Amino acid sequence: MRKVRSFFGGIYPEDVKQTTAGTPIQALSAPETVVVPLLQHVGLEAKPVVAKGDEVLKGQLLAEAEGATGAPVHSPVSGKVLAIEPRPHQSGHSVTAIVIENDGQDNWVERTTHPDPVQLDAEEILKRISQAGVVGMGGAGFPTAAKLTLPKGITLDYLIINGCECEPHYTTDHRLMVEYPEDIVLGAKLMAKASGARQIVIAIEDNKPDAIASLKEHAGSIEIVAVPTRYPAGGEKQLIQQITGREVPSGGLPYQVGAVVQNVATARAAALAVRDGEPLISRVVTVTGTPIAEPGNFLVPIGTPLAHVFEAAGGFSQKPGKVVVSGAMMGQAQFGLDVPVTKTTSCLLALTEEEAVTPDSTPCIKCARCVDVCPARLLPLKLEMFGMNERFEEAHAYGALDCIECGACNYICPAKRPLLQYIRFAKMEIIARDQLPS
Ligand code: SF4
Ligand code: SF4
Repeated sequence: MRKVRSFFGGIYPEDVKQTTAGTPIQALSAPETVVVPLLQHVGLEAKPVVAKGDEVLKGQLLAEAEGATGAPVHSPVSGKVLAIEPRPHQSGHSVTAIVIENDGQDNWVERTTHPDPVQLDAEEILKRISQAGVVGMGGAGFPTAAKLTLPKGITLDYLIINGCECEPHYTTDHRLMVEYPEDIVLGAKLMAKASGARQIVIAIEDNKPDAIASLKEHAGSIEIVAVPTRYPAGGEKQLIQQITGREVPSGGLPYQVGAVVQNVATARAAALAVRDGEPLISRVVTVTGTPIAEPGNFLVPIGTPLAHVFEAAGGFSQKPGKVVVSGAMMGQAQFGLDVPVTKTTSCLLALTEEEAVTPDSTPCIKCARCVDVCPARLLPLKLEMFGMNERFEEAHAYGALDCIECGACNYICPAKRPLLQYIRFAKMEIIARDQLPS
């Protein structure tokens, strides 16, 4: 039996998953109009291949990948292109989007299926995953085919499928593991073949015994490992350390220690792409929080406005004070509910007006609790000070770019310092300055 190692730091947030953990996934019909952003991944905006007025089929390519780490986007409905224009995005910026009037017919584009896709060669599997626009669905949005394509001479010991889902409110991966274990196992096998990984390990936090049992029943020779529940157990570097005992070096990438991590939803999307010829045009979203009348998990067409998803969850039983996309620890507050669901939207969290009040911060008391919980072994209090005072070189020297933005420091700080906010600011500035011509 595999020995699961520990990782540095971490926290134990209140368990709030029970509200939706037992709620089966409900498929949500697409709204009358969908808004499909051309940026739903890291990298450059995809380039449109349709024009205003075009009729499109469900699953049809709307925009092709730009650059080495781009990803194409496809239509979640059949209908007519109404506009290609900037629209509000979850990031808070405007992003070019293709607006489509849904004809309600669900007429699919022709799909290339394969009855036994594990027989395909690595190149063909990668091609199908890439063409389907599959990206990391755990939040990162890194194009999956690019992540599975390793530099020459690199061999992989491990493909780790991440079923930890350690963010407190998320239960989308949990439900996928309970309801679609065969797809996840197939996706894992396909990704292992595509990357040449010698072994597959599916790692699940031990607060999901039904998901562990479900995958064990279908895993065959694939190893299923229960890891202790502690946030952020599902962080890429933290997971690799727990499963392999190897530490990804500062500034390094997982393949440098012979491992690649993919999320369970991404594994399922890879299976749908290669076996069924289905591009990534929908995803499961947890809708939860005190003001939500009927919290649950919904299979949502990409491009659906948040307002439509909240309606499906019974609407609000009281006025929300804040709506956050992607959870309490790492999520982003939204200005409006007209922004669409994207490939990386795992969770919509609504807070009451009382819950949404940001506590006043007080001066740092140098208690070092933020240091004790930081899984990246950083000094959050120092990084905050560098960010606040625009001392970006020092922030860089103190490892700001190694921050995984888990929010554990914010959670634990008794002075309620906005640590992560200033660290994010410093990271953005460091990256922006690196990209300036010298
Ligand atoms: S946890 Fe807060 S108060 Fe304590 S050292 Fe860190 S920033 Fe200062
Ligand atoms: S500094 Fe970054 S990695 Fe460390 S606890 Fe804070 S958010 Fe997490």
